[in-house]
Amino acid sequence: MVRADVLARSRLIQSPHFLRSAEGDLRLLFENYDRHFFGNTLSAALRAQSPVPLALDWSGRLRSSGGVTTRLRNRRGVLSFRITVSQPLLFDNFRNGESAVVVGLPCADRLDGLMRIFEHELLHLHEFLAFGRSNCARPRFQKLAATHFGHAEHRHRLITPRQRMLAQTTLRPGSLVRFVRDGQELRGRINRIHTRATVLVASSKGQRYTDGGRYEKFYVPLALLKEI
Ligand SMILES: [Zn+2]
Repeated sequence: MVRADVLARSRLIQSPHFLRSAEGDLRLLFENYDRHFFGNTLSAALRAQSPVPLALDWSGRLRSSGGVTTRLRNRRGVLSFRITVSQPLLFDNFRNGESAVVVGLPCADRLDGLMRIFEHELLHLHEFLAFGRSNCARPRFQKLAATHFGHAEHRHRLITPRQRMLAQTTLRPGSLVRFVRDGQELRGRINRIHTRATVLVASSKGQRYTDGGRYEKFYVPLALLKEI
């Protein structure tokens, strides 16, 4: 319902794999969720508590979490609220059909990821408006998250397949490794790691690299690599 409405009405989000988004999309999400999940109580409470409209923005620098919600009181005692969503976390991930886990839920595409992040931030906003404070590490928040949205965990973290893989291995770019290919043991250095590693093996038949050496490139599943 929210997803279909965003896809139908947003100028920039016309596909779940959208490449650009603007503040208006966050506004569209806010209106949708407020109507369908909060019975317009968020906008009503905002109007009652603050003369300043809710600020919704994308941040190019926010990397520590998918989003941040703040409640600010200025020197004259005026309250304002802001939800900021991380551009790098959404746009560096979900590339080429990659999925990621957000708030404990697998997200198949970028729009899914954005919605899960936004839902988490809306619960912060809801708590701020209802109680003046909000903490997603506390049971109250987690209960709300589970009942409102079925979120399985409270962390803002976004876990990608690559991060999951790196957490399970000590292999890193630069590691010296050996592996068997066509019955022969080869030794080389990991150049890149994704779900497999790219290993460069010194070879006169290989391509010349910037360090002056010639290397053949092998794609090897991590499980078959032994660190030297
Ligand atoms: Zn949180």
